[in-house]
Amino acid sequence: MTRRDRRNAGMLVAGLRPATPEDTAAVTVSPTLRLARLFAPFRGKLALSLVLVLVASALPGVLVFLIQKVLDDVLMRRDADMLALLAPGVVALYALNGLVNVSRGLLTRSISWRIVTDLRQVTFDKLLVMDVAWHQRTPSGERTTRLLADINNLQYAMSGVVTAIQKPLTLIVLIGSAFWMNAKLAGVAVVLLPLVALPIDRFGKWVRAASRDTLDGGAALAGTTQETLAGIRVVQVFGGEGERSARFRALNEAHHVAQLRAVTAGLLPGPVVELIAAVGVGAVIWVGGGQVFRGELAPGQLIAFLVALGLMNEPLKGLTIIQSLLQRALASAESVFTLLDAPPAIVDTGVVEALAPSHIQLDGVGFDYGDGDVVRDVDLTVRAGQRVAIVGASGSGKTTLLSLLPRLRDPSAGIVRWNGVDLRGLTLASVRRHVAVVTQEPFLFDDTVAANIRFGQADATDEEVVAAATAANADAFIRALPSGYATRIDELGMRLSGGQRQRICIARALLRGAPVLLLDEATSNLDAESEALVQEALERLMKGRTTFVVAHRLSTIREADVIVVLAEGRVVERGTHATLMAAGGEYARLVARQAG
Ligand code: ADP
Repeated sequence: MTRRDRRNAGMLVAGLRPATPEDTAAVTVSPTLRLARLFAPFRGKLALSLVLVLVASALPGVLVFLIQKVLDDVLMRRDADMLALLAPGVVALYALNGLVNVSRGLLTRSISWRIVTDLRQVTFDKLLVMDVAWHQRTPSGERTTRLLADINNLQYAMSGVVTAIQKPLTLIVLIGSAFWMNAKLAGVAVVLLPLVALPIDRFGKWVRAASRDTLDGGAALAGTTQETLAGIRVVQVFGGEGERSARFRALNEAHHVAQLRAVTAGLLPGPVVELIAAVGVGAVIWVGGGQVFRGELAPGQLIAFLVALGLMNEPLKGLTIIQSLLQRALASAESVFTLLDAPPAIVDTGVVEALAPSHIQLDGVGFDYGDGDVVRDVDLTVRAGQRVAIVGASGSGKTTLLSLLPRLRDPSAGIVRWNGVDLRGLTLASVRRHVAVVTQEPFLFDDTVAANIRFGQADATDEEVVAAATAANADAFIRALPSGYATRIDELGMRLSGGQRQRICIARALLRGAPVLLLDEATSNLDAESEALVQEALERLMKGRTTFVVAHRLSTIREADVIVVLAEGRVVERGTHATLMAAGGEYARLVARQAG
């Protein structure tokens, strides 16, 4: 087993994989335990860092011992050999101290950051497989927060916990030595100690809740920022700066308050714990003083004991720090785990590879977003290479119907068949390999033009990319860009026109070579000249492919082998342009309205 395997196994044990039946057991585990289990693969490293902690805590003691040697042997007894040893000894001790501290710091961070880095990757991969419906209903600020802020918070808190882990150890050692010095006084001192659990527990819960609020507030801030910037033109043209600023201010102030609450909850337990400790010290003074009066205890012994008690203060407060860090980590871990456990609505249960379809068939297909059917009882058979146009008023369910073919959604009723096989019986990857999509909003990544065309087809050669761009009427304008195909989209900013962007997307679909093509309003939003170029590119793209097209342009629709008219999710008419025009129904009315 490699180290990576072991780590993955740790992730698996903790249930950090898309939910499968085997994971269900892990999923019911408390977040604390799940967080702890993430450390399981690093047992060895953790043990080593503990050893380093012990060495680091022992070193000051050795230094004290050396100083005593200097005083006794060198200065008092004038031992020259000892002098020769001590000087380099002190230097060596400091060198060792530095080495131990650096390695411990690196080791603890390498563990906690490794875990967090893996967790971030698993979370990002989970976002990639979550279904479109989930992405639509989860605000973008929320989604990026899970991935970035929550996991950063987790990283900060876990590093803190791993670094502070020596505090309880120091405490145990100090309590042990107190009992060794004077069992009775130690008993008096620690009788109240269990009480410190109360503020630690109570304030810990506050910290968790306040941390949660802080992160949620951060998510809302991120969401509003993203939205405002995406719509900056609308904001400025409509003079909405004031409204946006007020909305941001409300969220910003709430976030500020939540942060203060989190900090307060983190700071309060320290003094409370100190107070409890002070009561213990008072009791020791009281009881110990009595013992000194009765001659049962030397005054020096009482002082030494009190000094030992005083040393406990720091590690005791350390406990509260660990608790508050742990609660911060848990606040984040809970929401990250919730995301990791969320089952994607689209499950890849298929076992058969999809082959190029000879026909696609919709059998009584219906779809419901949760508040009534938006697609109902759709029956449709499309042979390989046919072009189907879906027309209908806005909101009649055209886009929803198209989204069923690449399984962005599964139908709520009926079956989509691919060569007679239920789409859900085919592997998701093979279905999607066979489907290409061109939508109304051409989407380009912040990458080179070539990379955008090659997206999803990493092994395509440069020649293939150029051929696809040429067929998409895009080659000429791409060559005219500052660095041709190597020009980055982000460098161009808004300089690409809608039609040019669309043609890059068409080149991407062409390169994919998928036998099934979905065109959703691909020519809306374009001016006449652009539209002609895009239309020509689309005609090349559609050639020989089974095409489902949603379009307003009559020319694209007219050529279709079958035209399906949707109204409120139902097929109300079907036929060719000629038969439907002759029938003089809904389609004829739509055409007349467009012509008018
Ligand atoms: P079209 O493409 O014909 O304009 P859509 O398929 O986009 O129609 O929408 C059909 C119906 O489904 C509309 O009433 C729309 O409001 C509703 N709808 C679309 N997307 C969602 C969604 N994500 N959640 C809920 N309802 C939706």
